[in-house]
Amino acid sequence: MTAIIDTPAITTDEPGACPDPGKKVFANRIEAMAFAAEYDDAHGTDNTAYRCTGCNAWHNTSTPKTATGNTPKSSSERINTEAAGWPAAPLRPGKDLAVGFYVLHPKTAAYWVANLNVHNRNLRTSGVSSYGIDIHTGGWDFNGDTIRFDTDGAMFDGQHRCTAIAGEGVPVPIILVTGLDPIAQDTTDTGMRRTFADTLKLAGETDVSNLAAVTMAAFLWKTDQIRSLKTGVSVRMLQQVLREHPELRDAVHVATRVRKAIPIQNSVVGLASWLLAQIDRDDHDDFFNKLVSGADLGENNPIRRLRERLIADVKNKTRLPRVEVLALTIKAWNFYRDGDEIRLLKFISGGRSPEAMPKPH
Ligand SMILES: [Zn+2]
Repeated sequence: MTAIIDTPAITTDEPGACPDPGKKVFANRIEAMAFAAEYDDAHGTDNTAYRCTGCNAWHNTSTPKTATGNTPKSSSERINTEAAGWPAAPLRPGKDLAVGFYVLHPKTAAYWVANLNVHNRNLRTSGVSSYGIDIHTGGWDFNGDTIRFDTDGAMFDGQHRCTAIAGEGVPVPIILVTGLDPIAQDTTDTGMRRTFADTLKLAGETDVSNLAAVTMAAFLWKTDQIRSLKTGVSVRMLQQVLREHPELRDAVHVATRVRKAIPIQNSVVGLASWLLAQIDRDDHDDFFNKLVSGADLGENNPIRRLRERLIADVKNKTRLPRVEVLALTIKAWNFYRDGDEIRLLKFISGGRSPEAMPKPH
């Protein structure tokens, strides 16, 4: 078997004793599921992959069990009803030119990724997980996109979707196209992706790129990923954040006003405004008014320290990373709230003992 990808988050640091010694060990879910799919195809069984509670590797059940859970799941009930009558997608799609509606089982998806995905782009983890989460929340969109195979029987478009389907273990309706010339890959997926800002514009929002940036920052904060993106983000997830927090639009206005006076990234100041306004609206207004004007701030006033730091950053071209600017802003806010004077405003973001991202209070 040729496993050409390393799926995310498959092994952890603490392997224990395997309760199933002698079982075939797989490095990741995709490999284990692909093996199960191939075994089933040859033996008419229904093997499944499972994560070992002991050795933490992936194993495969060796005993046949009853097939369950083949109901296709998309975001559209109408499509799900239609798709209930569609055939299962074949393990090895044909090489002739054809197009058809199928239900793609997660094991088949894993087999395609592990064995038929021979000359594709590198897998992007974030792309995979945002698809995955969308499936999980019933948001798999059957939008007419196809999974494509060429005349060699190689899949050249669909690896991210298939990896997500395998990972979620949910069968979904698909349109399968086979027998395309391998050269078709050159023109596949080169179009511009519709961004969240594009969808905001279509929805009649204003200042869409800033609103998109601030919403994204709010999503990262809410999901505790502000320092590094772990799960991936879809337009659907961002729409959800903005629906839950319409006040993000106010934060964009504040950000625009602050940025006229102080050099600070829109997503950072927008996120900060959103967070701090939730704590105390009056203090929030006072904090940002003083940050903008710089008036009446004593030597060791934390707002003044922040202000000078941001201005110096631009002057010296040091370009503080966003995470650091956010941390400094929150620290300055916390000092301001506590009524503390400070001589130095700093945040240690890396090295031997990096600071945790401060929480505003
Ligand atoms: Zn084990």
